[in-house]
Amino acid sequence: MSSAAVVNYAPEKGCVEIREIERPEIGDEDVLLEVANVGVCGSDLHQWTADHSWPVNYPVVLGHEFSGRIAQLGSRVEGWHEGQRVVSETAAIISQNNPMTRRGLYNLDPTRKGFGYGVNGAMTKHVCVPARVLHAVPDALPLERACLTEPCCVAYNAVVKNGRIEPGDRVVVLGPGTIGILCAAMARLCGAEVAIVGLEADRQRLEIARQYGCETIVGDAHSWAMQRDGLGCDGVIDAAGASATLKLAIDWVRPAGWISKVGWGPQPLGFNLDPLVQKNVTLQGSFSHNWPIWERVLALLASGQLDVQPIIGGVWSITDWHTAFEKMHSGEVVKSILTPD
Ligand SMILES: [Zn+2]
Repeated sequence: MSSAAVVNYAPEKGCVEIREIERPEIGDEDVLLEVANVGVCGSDLHQWTADHSWPVNYPVVLGHEFSGRIAQLGSRVEGWHEGQRVVSETAAIISQNNPMTRRGLYNLDPTRKGFGYGVNGAMTKHVCVPARVLHAVPDALPLERACLTEPCCVAYNAVVKNGRIEPGDRVVVLGPGTIGILCAAMARLCGAEVAIVGLEADRQRLEIARQYGCETIVGDAHSWAMQRDGLGCDGVIDAAGASATLKLAIDWVRPAGWISKVGWGPQPLGFNLDPLVQKNVTLQGSFSHNWPIWERVLALLASGQLDVQPIIGGVWSITDWHTAFEKMHSGEVVKSILTPD
């Protein structure tokens, strides 16, 4: 039995197409997951436009933000049942003996391989998932929203674990993509006053960000950051990733403040870091997420404290992937979601 899949087949620009693929064979410790919904990530777009910076195992099925139901259990899988509603983390392959894995930080295992680039992802009907990365989806949470647990976990790690917010802090978020908006939402949950900053072309996405109770700024957030005492904001979350935004973050953060950098960008910096030293600022990277973060985010989504509905721009069939990708690429929608036929 074969199904349509969104396949990235070569490292050149535009090398994504629908292919019929066979239903995957599962191992003893895997489940076969029948995909309900899969979010399109910025990284899927980067592999499509071939401006990504990570190794891809071509040909590969795209998609790592997904929800579904268990269709089949491997012989050694315990504690799960067929038909169960689940989401999956992204760490498809890790080394159990890596020192980072043994600390529970398998997201930082350098040998880790994820869905959608290292192994086949979820933009198709069935995906093979190790039981180790499954999480049960609470009844109150529809699968269409549950598929966005993954980017919420990225935001949780960047804001809650790798930032340090006290109620009443003022926090600037750079970049109104999915991760930036979810970081803004998370900072609001932590009790901060939040401004999210974008460019002229981001006006539509900033409008959506406003629904999370943050201020939106096109261009220069200097005066917002300097309100209160003129020294700068307490923290900055850089979800844009260009070198220029890190410079803004260093300018706008107050002495002894912090910057959590979750956005990627291949460019060298091209500016002096002395202000970082002089202001005694903490510059903190944030990458991926792990098991406890997933459990916590699912609780926030199920209780409604965190709502992803405002960022969902539409749900398209797998075979309409091109429309879904285009709408996100142009910034017309924040997040596109696919569903198998
Ligand atoms: Zn993603």
